Amino acid sequence: SVERPRPLVAGNWKMNGLKASEKVLTEIQEGFVAALRSKVDMAICPPATLIAQLAEQAEGSGIAIGGQDCHARESGAFTGDISAEMLADAGATCVLAGHSERRQYHGETDADVAAKAQAAHRAGLVAIVCVGETREEREAGRTLDVVRTQLKGSVPAGSNSTNLVVAYEPVWAIGTGLTPTAADVAEVHAAIRAALRVLVGEAEQDKVRILYGGSVKPSNAAELMAVENVDGALVGGASLVAADFLGIAGAY
Ligand code: PGA
Repeated sequence: SVERPRPLVAGNWKMNGLKASEKVLTEIQEGFVAALRSKVDMAICPPATLIAQLAEQAEGSGIAIGGQDCHARESGAFTGDISAEMLADAGATCVLAGHSERRQYHGETDADVAAKAQAAHRAGLVAIVCVGETREEREAGRTLDVVRTQLKGSVPAGSNSTNLVVAYEPVWAIGTGLTPTAADVAEVHAAIRAALRVLVGEAEQDKVRILYGGSVKPSNAAELMAVENVDGALVGGASLVAADFLGIAGAY
């Protein structure tokens, strides 16, 4: 279809944010004016401690609040973990699954990520499934293989364009100020789109949003967001500064 999915600009606050960070959300809400709202969807994934507070604050603003991770199970003896149902209960409507920092520091495998995304679906949340190659993998020419394998292993059965968002985040571009060329982004996003045909079916594949993430800033957002099959951005550092986050959304 020639119709592009509605773009989504999602912020990942990572392990940043205290109660006082409501001010950042307030500024984002103030800047998310009708003209911008008519073009893009917006989401913020704060630390779990802030989800309930920010979800209440964001009510009616059109800004979705999401988690950064969830456990695969609904409840039980899993000290320190948070279930998708708990995120939903706190007011979240989406959750990241398989961010590279979870894969790297918590050893999450593709199977773990698929189980988490499935849990998200069980709880009625949109799963934002993250994939991306390391610098070594890119230099070895393995990028497309790596991304295809991650995607195949991380997207659960039952996924569709309303409960799945894919985020392509090259590990070497996260927090480094480095970004792939537009041509490189186009190549990977086209491969993801092609892989989605098998994973969500022909009728749904062109409606699933594929975000680019990794050092997105207001200064490079327009170029990255103009790339074919880039349906929005997953923004880390720049989502902590309201003007930067709004500047990125304004690239549409
Ligand atoms: P960055 O992080 O925008 O700070 O590079 C992106 C991410 O990890 O989602």
